[in-house]
Amino acid sequence: MQIHLSEALGQNEAAVKNYTVPLSFDTFDCFGRICPVLKKEPVNLAILHKKGKKLVITAQVQVTLGVPCDRCLKEVSVPLDFVSEFEVDMNQTEEERIRNLEEAAFIEGYTLDVDKLVYSEMLVHMPMKVLCREDCEGLDEGHGTASGRQDSDRDEEAGADPRMAVIRDIFQKANPKGNKEV
Ligand SMILES: [Zn+2]
Repeated sequence: MQIHLSEALGQNEAAVKNYTVPLSFDTFDCFGRICPVLKKEPVNLAILHKKGKKLVITAQVQVTLGVPCDRCLKEVSVPLDFVSEFEVDMNQTEEERIRNLEEAAFIEGYTLDVDKLVYSEMLVHMPMKVLCREDCEGLDEGHGTASGRQDSDRDEEAGADPRMAVIRDIFQKANPKGNKEV
């Protein structure tokens, strides 16, 4: 959906114009992987007319993507929930803005393309690594060893490990109560 920035510019300075904008895309091209959009909320868009044709655009985005696991390719639900903010100086010519800022990609003349804005911001907010679970062993899952699971069991028990209690005792003996005084 497209928003006309002249609406926000027509307001008094320091006034905010709010929009609720539905997203029109149902798939997302994440670096060559086409991921389905599993869930999406309309974007909460606020455009502040800061002063003298300067706008501050704030977009609140909540989208859930189905992204293949990096190891086994199973679809993982990846929620993206972020707020992006841009300051745009409409005193500049379009050429100047293109040179200066990334938002040139989604502002053409006085028209803001909300889908394009969200799309480019989603690329920025995608996690570097997507795994169905921490110890995913990849495509030959089920034929591997259980070493991964043993590791996480150990982590969970660390708090109750009697060896830790011994270490705590040693520290307490080395630092008699008096040490706690400030
Ligand atoms: Zn996996």
